[in-house]
Amino acid sequence: MKISGIRIEHFSTNLDPPFRAAWDPEPRRSFSATLVLVETDEGLAGVGAGDAMVGFSESGFERHFVGEDPLRIARHVRVIETLDFHAGRYWPLEAALWDLFGKVANLPVAKLFGGVAERIPAYASCGELKGPEERAESAVRLKEEGFRAMKIRIDPRCAQEGIAAVAAAREAVGDGMEIMVDLNQAWRMAGDSTPSVDPLTVVGIARRLRELDVFWLEEPLPLTDTRGLAKLSRKSGLRLAGGEMARTTEDLLACLEADALDVYQPDVVLSLGMLRARTFAETVLRKNRLFTPHTWTDGVGLLANLHVTCGVGGGPYLEFPYDPPGWTPERRDFMLEEPVRVDPEGYLNVPDAPGLGVRLGEEYRRVLGL
Ligand SMILES: [Mg+2]
Repeated sequence: MKISGIRIEHFSTNLDPPFRAAWDPEPRRSFSATLVLVETDEGLAGVGAGDAMVGFSESGFERHFVGEDPLRIARHVRVIETLDFHAGRYWPLEAALWDLFGKVANLPVAKLFGGVAERIPAYASCGELKGPEERAESAVRLKEEGFRAMKIRIDPRCAQEGIAAVAAAREAVGDGMEIMVDLNQAWRMAGDSTPSVDPLTVVGIARRLRELDVFWLEEPLPLTDTRGLAKLSRKSGLRLAGGEMARTTEDLLACLEADALDVYQPDVVLSLGMLRARTFAETVLRKNRLFTPHTWTDGVGLLANLHVTCGVGGGPYLEFPYDPPGWTPERRDFMLEEPVRVDPEGYLNVPDAPGLGVRLGEEYRRVLGL
């Protein structure tokens, strides 16, 4: 079997009312997703998504893959890393290759990745900044829907409001639900050069969150501040999480060596790719730390992260981007025939279908010629 072509198609859906992402000052009025299709001379095709694949087609990067055996994935990963060095993070291509591999093997990718688990409890990852009353109501609803955990974003520059929202959520759900908090301090919108909040401010926030029994504190400082993170970890008594956009395994190994993080979150379609994330996850788990990737892209990216996490036995929870009415499965997974949903027990289940189990909606299948 040979790769006969790589198709990249961009799609977008309107968001009315807009989604007010905590990490973006501009309300989002549309949401884009880029589908990557790997075609073969035998008619089988694989689908991936996640990163926007900017510059891939314009640079003619298909030429490094067309004519090659699609199942030589470790070879393709090395080539994608050379492209990443010059241009973007083209990990959705690797996801499409694994989707194809699973279809050839007639197995879900999670099985190819080790098959440790077939399902994992989801945490509702809330994306908007909401006041205490609204966040408490949302926490109660999530608990009623079966979620065992949720994540709340705090703007560290208005920490008191954020902490009040976490306190209200804790008060509303009691200790029957885990609560994580994300400060997004290793994350920047393009063009935003404001410095991160200083470590002492973060120590103060962390102390308050410890009292509220927060399960982990995410991105309290930039990832490059490994010493600051290690110190905060010792002082705060909280698990620290991060690494969602880490560019290389070495960046994350530096954190592991410095004992800077307790929870490692490389997104398999944005950060290290699937194979590298899996290898790194084994190291993390053997060091008795947690591996549970970021998944905030779209339904296809969520599925890719689900397969890797279940395959390698990560957890204990997986991110499920969900903060209705602003962020819903219908918006997130607009390209899928049916959105990915959490079962009534609060679990995400690995699809039974071969590959990633991506079932695109009819109009997207038509555009891709599937
Ligand atoms: Mg995050």
